[in-house]
Formats: sequence, structure tokens, C-alpha cells
Amino acid sequence: MMDIEICKWYNNADSPVLFMIDDFANVWVDTNGNGEIDIEEDWGYGKNSEKSSFRYLNEVILKDFPKVKVTFFTPVGIRVGIIEDPPIKSVSKMINCDDETKEFFRNIYNNSKFEIAYHGTTHGKVGKTRHDFKQEWELFQSLEEANEVVNYGKEIYKDVFGDYPKGGKYCGYCSNCFSDDSIDKGGFLWWCRYCNLDTKNAIKNGCLDKFFHGEDCSDITNFDAKKFGINEVIDIPSTVNGGLLSGIIKSNCNSLKGIAKIILKKYLVKKKLEQIDYLVKNKLVISIQEHISPARDDGRRQQPNIYDDRESLRMIFKFLNDKKIWYCTGSELAEYVYLKNAVKLISNSEKVFFFEFNINKVINGREITLKINDNRRSYLIAPNGEYLKIKNGIVNVPLLQGEYELN
Ligand SMILES: [Zn+2]
Repeated sequence: MMDIEICKWYNNADSPVLFMIDDFANVWVDTNGNGEIDIEEDWGYGKNSEKSSFRYLNEVILKDFPKVKVTFFTPVGIRVGIIEDPPIKSVSKMINCDDETKEFFRNIYNNSKFEIAYHGTTHGKVGKTRHDFKQEWELFQSLEEANEVVNYGKEIYKDVFGDYPKGGKYCGYCSNCFSDDSIDKGGFLWWCRYCNLDTKNAIKNGCLDKFFHGEDCSDITNFDAKKFGINEVIDIPSTVNGGLLSGIIKSNCNSLKGIAKIILKKYLVKKKLEQIDYLVKNKLVISIQEHISPARDDGRRQQPNIYDDRESLRMIFKFLNDKKIWYCTGSELAEYVYLKNAVKLISNSEKVFFFEFNINKVINGREITLKINDNRRSYLIAPNGEYLKIKNGIVNVPLLQGEYELN
């Protein structure tokens, strides 16, 4: 019989790589109080202006890594600050506050290098101190209340982008017993529920919060895509801190000089990168977490952020350069996982096969990767008559009704 497998990831990659940036919002924190947008102060309000964070991201972080795709998490309403009566002034507006703002966000949405995912309306509620801050989904006291706010936020999103969001993330990874149902009912294809990269430490230190870390203590499944809810929402884990190497790069090894210092740093960097290598070797999700700006209205520095982690991020991307990976957005990953689960490959001869599938969600990219374990085969004819070359046993095929013929 025919020996064909559907690959775990698109293009038979070992791992998908997602670059996830939080709180890309219509916000500006005027840290130095001079009334002008300066470097590090902008969360998206500065659009693509000279000292904006979006420009910094493109010109400094992504410049040498054209294949990297970014999934932004955007609070669509007036994103609140951290505390009541903050010492630092900030500006915060809805993402649909005027045409110019809408156009800025919409252009990013329409660029295939980027995705804008949902991240609540206000992000939460300020408190007297930063410890009293409540995250958006923690505030909901019933499913009805959660649904209402999610639906309100989805309409703002639709007003700007013309469509509802496909995925999103809990603000501050915080949720309560109503949260998952609100996402399940909200029609989302995917969601980021947990800060998975901290689960193991939390277990070790006896401070596991199941709404924050999740409860999966497996070193495999905790870093893989899963699903939850009646509608089988794809749960994308958070697996890598963008500042993974920042502590080492900036560390003050004053007591060591010259070569010894360089060797030690090299060794420590290599050790840390083993964490990413582990994900690649086990075909798990590499999702690199960051914030768009360090600026907060309580004067503290938001961590991690793309400014402090510039070198760390660049080293991570360089490390990934020669790996067999797939740069994708949250929706691209979720669509592939959904299709892989929804499709069954049927064959009743040596040469011909077809797919059985029942797709009841809106899926844009309907391509699936096959591994054909038969080296006599060099191309495949799809039901639409298209010839597809099989390279090293791998071929990406459009998902169609009808027969595929191997040759
Ligand atoms: Zn956030």
C-alpha cells in the first residue's frame, strides 16, 4: 500500500516559529514629559513616525531577518495604564478613533508578514498600586459579562479590519473560570491561554497558578499546540522569552577580563540556546514573547521589551537561520493544525489517493504538506490538473475534492 504521511508542520518543518508582540496599541507614554514621542515611548500611537516602535521593530529588529513574521496582540479600546494618578502622562485611544489610525493598523493587518490578534478592550483596570492592577478577563464575574465585552471588542476590531479576529491572548495571561467559555463562544480559531515557559518553575517552586501557567507539566505537550472548548479552539503555547539571552549579554563580568569574559559569555549563550534547540528537536512550538515598549506610566520598565532585548532577539533569529523551521503567524499555525486534524488521507491503489474532510471553519490557507515514503515518485497531479514536484519526498498540496495521482 501507499506510504504517505501528513506532516506535523507546514513544509515538513521541525518547528513553527512565531514572534509574538504584546500591547501594540494606540498608546504613547511620555516618559520624559517633553511632549514629543521619543524612542522607547511609543506603543503604536506614533504609527510609523521616526521614533515610533513600529519603525524600530522593522528597521532594527527585523531588518536582517526578512522571513520572520510578527503576530501583534492589540487591545482595541482605550488601554488603561498601570496605576491611579500615575506620575507619568500618557495618551491612550481606541484603534478606530480616526481614519488615519484605522488606516495605519489596517495596512499592517493587510501585510502578510504581520497579523493583528485580539487582546481585549482596555487590558484591565488600574489599582492604587501596581499589585492591585486587575487584568481584563479576571474582572468578569459571569460568562454573560465576559461575552458582552468580547463581543463589543470584536465589533471595534471589525470596524477597523473588516472582519472579526481569528485569535488572541489573555491580558497578562490572566483568566478565571468564565474565560475559556467566552473564547470558545466568541468564535475564535485560536487563543494563547498560558505562560507555558514558566510552568515548570512554578511547579518546582510550589506556586502553580492554573489560570496563568496552565496545568500541563509535560515537557512535550506543554510546548505543543492543543485544543480546548466545544469548538476545539487551538491553544498556542508561549514557549520562549525574547529576553532569553539579555541577562547574559548585559551581565557585568567586571572581575573577568578579555578572552575569559568572551569565552564565558559564549558558553552561557550556547547553554541558553539549548532550550530552543530542545523545541526544534522535539518538533514543538517556538513562540517568542515580547512587548512593543518598555514605557509604563508608573515609571517602571516593562519587561521583556524589544528595546532591551535587541541583541537577544537578533541572536535567537540568527540561531534559527539554519534550522528547518516555518515562520508563521498565529492564524497560519492554527489553520494548519486545524486542517491536519480535519483531514483523512484515503488510498486504494499504489498511485491514487484522495482526502476526506469536513471543514466547518473559515480557513484561508488550505495547503497541507505530505511526506511520500517512496523514492520512485517525483511529481503529483492534483485534482485541478496542477503538477506538483515532490522534493526529497516532500510536497505541499492544495486541499481539494477528488483524486491525486502520484508519478
Ligand atoms: Zn498585554
